[in-house]
Amino acid sequence: MKIYIDGVFHAKADAKISVFDHGLLYGDGVFEGIRFYNGRVFRLKEHIDRLYDSARAILLEIPLSREEMSEAVLASCRENNLRDGYVRLLVTRGVGDLGLNPKLCPRATVIIIADSIKLYPEELYRNGLEVITCSTRRIAPAALSPSIKSLNYLNNILARIEASAAGAGEGLMLNEQGYVSECTGDNIFILKNGRLFTPPISAGALRGITRDVVIEIAAELGYTVEEPNLTRYDVFTADECFLTGTAAEIIPAVKLDGRPIGTGRPGEVTARFIERFRELTRATGEPIGL
Ligand code: PMP
Repeated sequence: MKIYIDGVFHAKADAKISVFDHGLLYGDGVFEGIRFYNGRVFRLKEHIDRLYDSARAILLEIPLSREEMSEAVLASCRENNLRDGYVRLLVTRGVGDLGLNPKLCPRATVIIIADSIKLYPEELYRNGLEVITCSTRRIAPAALSPSIKSLNYLNNILARIEASAAGAGEGLMLNEQGYVSECTGDNIFILKNGRLFTPPISAGALRGITRDVVIEIAAELGYTVEEPNLTRYDVFTADECFLTGTAAEIIPAVKLDGRPIGTGRPGEVTARFIERFRELTRATGEPIGL
């Protein structure tokens, strides 16, 4: 495996950064998780745009142009001779001293790891995930915007610990007002009486790339997606529910807090979305050039 750090590919054992990097010391940095399928990187431009927006929001200057960054992602896939897999792209604040001040970090560190992905078992797509509501609330946008895909994921990790302890596949996170925001690493959609709903970004959700793809597929299939504030009531009483994320893709959620959602089985509309999503991942994207 070859890992990109600041323009140079290193063997896995040699891919190291300084202990003074503020990405490590403070979680000061941003990242993306990107998939590539069948020799093409899916929604590369959207991921790069979100990365640069996250960086802008934390006043982090990325030392590469968007074009150079996109090319570095493609090169990382090529270098590893992979046609299917997952890319973890990180930009950290870089090396500074032990103080918080990012001004003392002269140059951001760029890391790109392209790896084969351990897929969720196909059985989960057939049978659906169980979800619990986490006590840990999604961090308030006024404290740290959930739109920033930052390296500081403790809020999500604390919620994920609860979900794992309960034996659930994902954890539902509410915001401080008690409205549904998202799951620990996925966005959430519900279907009710033929209408699709997902929480608004303002409720504390990441603007998921997969969420946007689902909104596009919805338009193709004749659904509009509404974004009102949602509560657990809406999930309990939904006909279908599914989660979306780069790693999970589109995955049915069939239980919340032990209660079946709809029939308690993955729904038909969800299945149509999964099918169309898989067509798109197979056939579209930025060619790696392998
Ligand atoms: N919410 C959170 C908190 C996430 O970490 C992710 C995964 N990156 C998502 C939602 C889904 O976003 P995407 O579809 O862009 O992977």
